[in-house]
Amino acid sequence: MPNIEREQRQVVVIGAGPSGAIAAALLKRNGHDVLIIERQRFPRFSIGESLLSHCIDFIEEAGMLEAVQAAGFQVKKGAAFAWGERYSAFDFGDTFSNGKPTTFQVQRADFDKLLADQAELQGVEIRYEETITAADFNAAQPQLTVQRADGSEYVVQSEFVLDASGYGRVLPRLLELEAPSNFPLRQAIFTHVEDRIDCHTFDREKILVTTHPTQRDIWFWTIPFSNGRCSVGVVAAAEHLQGATDLDACLKGFVQATPSLAKVLQNAQWDTPARTIGGYSANVKALHGPGFALLGNAAEFLDPVFSSGVTIAMRSASMAAGLLHRQLSGVAVDWQNEFAVPLKRGVDTFRAYVEGWYNGSFQDVIYHPGSSAEIRRMISSILAGYAWDQRNPFVAEPVRRLRMLAEVCASTPA
Ligand code: FAD
Repeated sequence: MPNIEREQRQVVVIGAGPSGAIAAALLKRNGHDVLIIERQRFPRFSIGESLLSHCIDFIEEAGMLEAVQAAGFQVKKGAAFAWGERYSAFDFGDTFSNGKPTTFQVQRADFDKLLADQAELQGVEIRYEETITAADFNAAQPQLTVQRADGSEYVVQSEFVLDASGYGRVLPRLLELEAPSNFPLRQAIFTHVEDRIDCHTFDREKILVTTHPTQRDIWFWTIPFSNGRCSVGVVAAAEHLQGATDLDACLKGFVQATPSLAKVLQNAQWDTPARTIGGYSANVKALHGPGFALLGNAAEFLDPVFSSGVTIAMRSASMAAGLLHRQLSGVAVDWQNEFAVPLKRGVDTFRAYVEGWYNGSFQDVIYHPGSSAEIRRMISSILAGYAWDQRNPFVAEPVRRLRMLAEVCASTPA
């Protein structure tokens, strides 16, 4: 590419979603030059609307908490689960980890724009409607090819690249780092409704996760917003939803087949065409390499059931930004032992509970009325996002603890 325009920057971040905006702001706050290249124009739709408490720690760290608090998003204080007559609610104000007691349920178009605008206000440069199309990590410094909306191209060279491209998975694709997820193929159908909920048991300050009456691997989210609207979605193995040509009818059909949820949504105005996303679980062979690290969904995405996506994205952003600051300041960094290994520890905690959700063992625990208050506080901590708190026995040994607890629940029928 002899005549192509070239530019030199210190750090390039691919994508201005939550992981990109937080990482870029943290680096900028430490005095580094950061350029974000974002393929879309914001605001843009994104799924992933229920945040966990731990997100607030990173929003605060990036100096964006006041702006987020002032934006009028729905306050979220916990998570509720319903299966037939059974109802189990966890309060983020009462957790083992004593983390942030509240968080938010957000329309991601607005939320992501707010974070990106905050990063810009702090001095990060964001170029919208520009797409990374190629990457070369064989030269002395990483080189990314950027395509503008008008089709013209340029190359940006930098000391380091953070890939925060989410489902775009730019570097995993370009550097052949993609690895299969070990979760089966699942699909979600979802929409926003004018909810008109007047059900007295419904708590707008919690996400409601509803288990299908007979097929326990099918579940629904109901995420209320502050404007009288709700995000509603169903998640099922792809074979249950494949062939659904009318997404609205399919989603409504599943809701109607689930009486407790049909009751909550009985007055809803279904005014927005449903969307679908499938095959979203993904993994990678490596979370970093010479000159780059992968953040958020560009790395691994597990499953939406515990709303852990944005939390993992922000946690990875915070960790990578801290390490990169050290590296750019001349300190040697061990990306494997200081980034990949500790990040994966928390991801694997979520993984254990996601697996337990779908094989039924974690649902048995959640819906069992007899768990002790202390155990519920430990579980609540994980549901609030504190999946890296090794003091919590349910974090330190998730598989063994969950198996033991499920056995106890099974031997003491409700
Ligand atoms: P994103 O938010 O996806 O941002 C990536 C950005 O990169 C995008 O703006 C994109 O335009 C840009 N980009 C992509 N390719 C390129 C390119 N080539 N060049 C330049 N820019 C590019 N998480 C939760 O926390 N709570 C939930 O309730 C929740 N529900 C979910 C429900 C479903 C059905 C699914 C599938 C996921 C859900 N998630 C949820 C997960 C959540 O959507 C993601 O984890 C989160 O958005 C990841 O943030 P990110 O910053 O990594 O990526």
